[in-house]
Amino acid sequence: MLWMLASLFFSWCAFREIRASIVAPPGFDYPTPITKPYLALVLFLAAAFAWPPLHTWYFQRRLSAIATELADQHRAKVHCNTLFDTMLDPEMLAAGHANPDTGDIGIQQPWCGTLMSYLRHPARADERELQSLDMFTHESMHVRGERNEALTECQAVQRNYRAAKLLGVPDATAKQNALDYYNGYYQLRAKIGGMQSAYYSDQCAPGKALDEHLSDSTWTTP
Ligand SMILES: [Zn+2]
Repeated sequence: MLWMLASLFFSWCAFREIRASIVAPPGFDYPTPITKPYLALVLFLAAAFAWPPLHTWYFQRRLSAIATELADQHRAKVHCNTLFDTMLDPEMLAAGHANPDTGDIGIQQPWCGTLMSYLRHPARADERELQSLDMFTHESMHVRGERNEALTECQAVQRNYRAAKLLGVPDATAKQNALDYYNGYYQLRAKIGGMQSAYYSDQCAPGKALDEHLSDSTWTTP
């Protein structure tokens, strides 16, 4: 919001400069010629301040469309929280949260940025970046209608491969990333115990009770 205000301010500076070159400003008999370096600077600043909010807005729209597809067409609406939103959020400690009734998904700071950086270099994804992919798929599963955390998480691990591909990750890398999360952090949840074990089930494995036998499951070998 502050970025947008800054952008509007510099747009107004540019507008004033151009107007003064056409219509004589008050107290002047003739229009004043444009100061080109000044105009270039304020136009540049207007664009620079508009870029981050526009980029986030575009990213949210894209995530909303993909989350809706992952949720089997239950409409999802993703919002990347700013630091301010996160501070005011009653669920500020969770990386993300979703409301199965409204389809609203809130992603906390800095997780939208982590997901963006994952998408910039998926082949070199680190642990946190893989977690950001799973967090996105997990919240989409809540929008699909699941409320139980262990079931939600198991549905997510089976769809992380699909999710990564929908996000534009190349096929082989998407498969590897999804398997790395399943074999790595997902299994670690059982060992950590405590709150983490609420997100884990030993039945979440190929051929076990929670296997949905998806044709494009993370763990299906082609
Ligand atoms: Zn959850």
